[in-house]
Amino acid sequence: MSDLHRLSIRELSEGLAQAKFSSRELTEHYLKRIAKIDTQVQSYITVTAEQALAQADAADAAIKAGHATTLTGLPIAHKDIFCTQGIKTTAGSKMLDNFISPYDATVVAKGKAAGLVTLGKVNMDEFAMGSTSENPHFGSTKNPWNLEHVPGGSSGGSAAVVAADLAPFATGTDTGGSIRQPASFCGLTGLKPTYGRVSRFGMIAYASSMDQGGPMARSAEDCAYLMNVMAGHDAKDSTSVQKEVDDYVANLNGTSVKGLRIGIPKQYFNVQGLDADVKARVEESLKKLEEMGATLVEIDLNMTEAYVPTYYLIAPAEASSNLQRFDGVRYGYRCENPVDLMDLYKRSRSEGFGTEVQRRILIGTYALSAGYYDAYYVKAQKVRRLIQQDFLKAFENVDMIAAPSAPTTAYKIGANLSPTEMYLGDIYTLAVNLAGLPAINAPVGFDKNNLPVGLQLIGNYWSESQLLSVVHQYQQATDWHTKRAAIAEENA
Ligand code: GLN
Repeated sequence: MSDLHRLSIRELSEGLAQAKFSSRELTEHYLKRIAKIDTQVQSYITVTAEQALAQADAADAAIKAGHATTLTGLPIAHKDIFCTQGIKTTAGSKMLDNFISPYDATVVAKGKAAGLVTLGKVNMDEFAMGSTSENPHFGSTKNPWNLEHVPGGSSGGSAAVVAADLAPFATGTDTGGSIRQPASFCGLTGLKPTYGRVSRFGMIAYASSMDQGGPMARSAEDCAYLMNVMAGHDAKDSTSVQKEVDDYVANLNGTSVKGLRIGIPKQYFNVQGLDADVKARVEESLKKLEEMGATLVEIDLNMTEAYVPTYYLIAPAEASSNLQRFDGVRYGYRCENPVDLMDLYKRSRSEGFGTEVQRRILIGTYALSAGYYDAYYVKAQKVRRLIQQDFLKAFENVDMIAAPSAPTTAYKIGANLSPTEMYLGDIYTLAVNLAGLPAINAPVGFDKNNLPVGLQLIGNYWSESQLLSVVHQYQQATDWHTKRAAIAEENA
């Protein structure tokens, strides 16, 4: 079969169960596509062909023996930030170029237990710091819709593999938008869950109070299948929450769009730099939701101007602390011929980390240093609380909040934006992480250059089912999520 990559997750699951094709055939199909097409997209850092085929054979045996779960035998790609036992995990950094984890991240272990087949590990911004996946060490992943553009980031490899049909779905992580923004740039659906819903164990830390893993796929339905595997309490992550997990697939039609109150923050649609096409497509999608029965309610989110400065203090502060462990001593990159211990630390860190990571470590260390701590870090934490309260107040009156996922469509590779310009591109995603809320991106059309535009829906805590359900119903009534980049139409 030459069109296996066009099937949805449900169709793949049913096809395997009904023996229309085997997991080995499906896995070989994807491996062939990767070999042919990824030379252009450059999304995989590591392809684990041999292990994948062995996992596929085991899956086929399980299906025959009647031990299969819904996802047994389906291939997946993991962001290279999730530790994989015996397979290189780089976090997109030269610092971890030779790192082989002795254990699996909980998300990876859960995937294996569900019978998923790992195709490989995909590219990202170094240590998840960035928005373009222009990686200083592993190169730039390309946007499948236009190879001269970035796929977004930091989960740009995860977005590119799905948009180019080089994996049916992928894991991503989102600390300040890294699932939603690349999903937006590549025309995909991506869910950032409530902080604490998905285990962070074995996910290389960037800013621990905001890092959260989630699914990236073509549709809300496809995301729901992966969310059923990823979500849940984990004793190995003290911030993962002991709360019953919804059946996200069973709940896909569980929320009524009729009567749904969607908040439209006044401040969000007058942001300087909001592209006219993005604004128009998002407004059209809201109109559609209104036609489907939702009520649009204008709301105030007064803290909007504080999002970027607050995040860009707290995230680097946490990063400077988290990245101290990469010192050239225990594991990871070590410089050649150090003259003494200080030289070993200094050169290993300045040769092993790229420019953006070094910038964040410097900012974060400064913000945490004695004399500045109260003025910067503590103040940012207080503002963070105000941002959260702003949302909680809004949710007293609305069920969800709508926004663009990003003010623009995908940038050109090499656009070389200044750090501040780049950080301003995160205006719509950061507050969700600061507040710990869940949010989803859904594709809602294209700009004049045929690059995808995304709508973001932000929910109250633990409303993943509702977000997936509303997007699912929108996708039943529209076909934006079915559009494919030309490169995805190519056969291997
Ligand atoms: N672009 C944001 C940053 O650079 C968010 C990254 C993320 O969510 N990992 O920090």
